Amino acid sequence: MRILVIEDERSLAGFIEQTLRSHGFAASVAGTLGEARALLEQPFDALICDRRLPDGDGLELVKELRDKGNNVPILMLTALGLPKERVSGLEAGADDYLPKPFSLFELLARVKALLRRSSGPASLVLEAGNVKLDTLHDTVSVDDKPAQFGKREVVLLRHLMQRTGQVVGKDALERALYGDSGPDSRNALEVATHRLRKLLAKHKASVGIVTVRGIGYLLEETK
Ligand code: CA
Repeated sequence: MRILVIEDERSLAGFIEQTLRSHGFAASVAGTLGEARALLEQPFDALICDRRLPDGDGLELVKELRDKGNNVPILMLTALGLPKERVSGLEAGADDYLPKPFSLFELLARVKALLRRSSGPASLVLEAGNVKLDTLHDTVSVDDKPAQFGKREVVLLRHLMQRTGQVVGKDALERALYGDSGPDSRNALEVATHRLRKLLAKHKASVGIVTVRGIGYLLEETK
């Protein structure tokens, strides 16, 4: 899922981008309406759009897109959180409105809700062997039977499934699991991987995790 973040506050844009990436979304950032228009030559699955931008109001872009018949889900972000402003945003064609300051968790929940409403579930399910991972609900099933996986194991599995058959670096996995503060112990990632391996085996998954010494891990089909 590709998400375009249109936000001129660089640090905030960076936090949003990082949050989205660590939850399995591909994120691009535009700092102005001009940059956003250029990037929108490519399709996106959702937009997160600030209102006060250096070259205009984010609502102009929303109106333009809707006038062109583009129905991409749009979440407006803004310091203008007054009811009147909310209404004008929604009337212009935005799907949801999140006043600043907001928590990144709330932002993520709103984005997921927008995607859930706008698209069929099929595109949001990762599949490898007999394992399926629903990226909206963070649930795992093996042979179409629900399988109980812990939060960390789901995050780890999701990152590996997004690149099945390719090595995923330890650093990237540690960032996804533990954020910028890093893991609380040196072997935390190894422990998490060990747990995930056991869960996959327990549920008779037809995929396994290969350790690529010193580099990272790779998910591959075993049957
Ligand atoms: Ca702004």
